[in-house]
Amino acid sequence: MSLNAFITKETVESDEDGPLAGKSIAVKDNISTEGLRTTCGSEMLEDYVPPYDATVVERLKDAGATIVGKANMDEFGMGTTTETSAYGPTKNPVDESRVPGGSSGGSAAAVAAGEADLALGTDTGGSIRCPAAFCGVVGIKPTYGLVSRYGLVAYANSLEQIGPIAPSVEEAAALLDVIAGPDDRDATTREEGADSNFAAAADGDVEGLTIGVPTELVEGADEGVKAAFWDALDELEAQGAEYHEVSMPSTEKAVAAYYVIAMSEASSNLARFDGVRYGKSGGYEGNWNEAFARAREEGFGSEVKRRILLGTYALSAGYHDKYYAKAQDARAWVKQDFDAAFEDVDVLASPTMPVPPFELGESLDDPLQMYLADANTVPVNLANLPAISVPAGETDGLPVGLQLIGPKFGEETIVRAASAVEN
Ligand code: GLN
Repeated sequence: MSLNAFITKETVESDEDGPLAGKSIAVKDNISTEGLRTTCGSEMLEDYVPPYDATVVERLKDAGATIVGKANMDEFGMGTTTETSAYGPTKNPVDESRVPGGSSGGSAAAVAAGEADLALGTDTGGSIRCPAAFCGVVGIKPTYGLVSRYGLVAYANSLEQIGPIAPSVEEAAALLDVIAGPDDRDATTREEGADSNFAAAADGDVEGLTIGVPTELVEGADEGVKAAFWDALDELEAQGAEYHEVSMPSTEKAVAAYYVIAMSEASSNLARFDGVRYGKSGGYEGNWNEAFARAREEGFGSEVKRRILLGTYALSAGYHDKYYAKAQDARAWVKQDFDAAFEDVDVLASPTMPVPPFELGESLDDPLQMYLADANTVPVNLANLPAISVPAGETDGLPVGLQLIGPKFGEETIVRAASAVEN
């Protein structure tokens, strides 16, 4: 039985002779590909074929990569398991009774199973790092502004980045080298990264590196996850690094702040899918409002609807100050905690996910449990920082991911440290 890692399986060859020549790549289905269907895991876009390539896809083609299909994902990126996809869940290749993580679950499963050499995912609150951790591969969430979002179907603009998923740190870094760098079509991109050589940083040299471990991001983790995590840190110490615990009290507010901000931005971004401007039109009867309502009722799944409703509520007159403005205050606090931590340490480390991969179906009836599993990944998006998930042993035969977080544009440092974990 197939893992269902792809929503659309179609090959697009490139005849360029670049650094990715001969490499096959899976592209998450919320990244626009000219002439190749891009559904975002939603029925709303089941027939949508973009007329242009995202900047990252242009760069892949220029680098000689062969696209082998569009990877399965939670609908519009909203989920942690790939089970909210309208095209059925993806299975975890390590244990097919389990989820691959999400929302870039198809991308990570494809790489872990060898169905693609490399993959692109997107990370709004952990969607690259979580599936990388659950499938036992490497994923990088770049600093906000390192990679162009032009051609990415937006979920929450202020939080998200496109990034690489690969079998090894060096390959992930090499893919990041290809997609990083400024883009005139995305004003949030920066000059940093224009001549990047992140792959060269994968030299495993952690001599003298100082690692902070935020107590709040470890104490709640599953025992088996914790054991693998501390073993990996002892290994890094044996290679010349030093680690100690630090406190980041703001991170306890991060999940709440993240979900208010992400849902608010989503409610605005998804307004364009009304069956007229974008999205499936049912040819409905009635006035505009009735036709829009029908298109949205039929086109969106229940998790997406929940978030549009909650996000609209959080932004509405009378509640804006109570929810959205408060969440922005918490976001500022999270940023301050990171700034303070990076005065004393080079990188921060935590388990990527506090738990091993869920059983398929386990978390579907309990959205709150699913949201809480993002506790260690969302602070990074709130602060716009880079982070990598690298395999660090297992618990009961299931992969454990170690997350390394760097200061802004500190990709080389996290790549270096992650390659030492790999050793
Ligand atoms: N699980 C988080 C959410 O559902 C993260 C998703 C993502 O990064 N796209 O919002």
